[in-house]
Amino acid sequence: MSQWALPPKLHSTTEGGPICFHCDHSIGSKDGLIPRYTDSHACVRCISSLTEGRLALDVHKIEKKYRRRFLEFWSFVEIRGPEECWPWRGKYHSRSNSSYFAMPRHWGSGRQYSAPRCAVWFTWGDIGRLPIKAVCGDNNCCNPLHLRVKGVPHFFHNRHLQTVDLEFSSNKLTHETQLFLETTHDKDPKRFKKIQAANRMWIDFRLAADGPLSPSIIKEKNKN
Ligand SMILES: [Zn+2]
Ligand SMILES: [Zn+2]
Repeated sequence: MSQWALPPKLHSTTEGGPICFHCDHSIGSKDGLIPRYTDSHACVRCISSLTEGRLALDVHKIEKKYRRRFLEFWSFVEIRGPEECWPWRGKYHSRSNSSYFAMPRHWGSGRQYSAPRCAVWFTWGDIGRLPIKAVCGDNNCCNPLHLRVKGVPHFFHNRHLQTVDLEFSSNKLTHETQLFLETTHDKDPKRFKKIQAANRMWIDFRLAADGPLSPSIIKEKNKN
């Protein structure tokens, strides 16, 4: 998928747009709209948190209507240690071997986006269609620390803190996606079948795992 080309006067105007994934950003919005940049459609507040180097990986910080999507997305990410690559275990386009996840957005007719782009939206923030780059060189990697957003200042000076926090929050997220899969399996078998259809082996493996997965368990599993 080719990325959006940065215009010369990026982010010079804003307009009201639909709420972003992060629930703090719609607080105080009286008309149900939030400020977004006209060209990239990025949420203005998400861009400022990116500038400050803030990173979120917490389902409770996600807008209610997006929580199920959020958990479904992370159910397909092999969440490993903060320094490692996080492989995408969901769907791939067979010809280009590029990952995708269904996520319609308000600015265009595209109904699916690459997994790393969704990972950026759910962690660093709703950067709209700003181009992204995987610094590890793996274009399907979903580790937010391996993903950079182009066109805006993106500070990593507190990277050490983020790593500490990421270790904690990614364990929590693994647990939350586990609960999500179990609940969907029990309460909504139809939806569960749909989720399972994307990668049956992976979902069955996730369900069979007792408690949160640790990166070492996954490594063991990969060896077999
Ligand atoms: Zn936002
Ligand atoms: Zn990576």
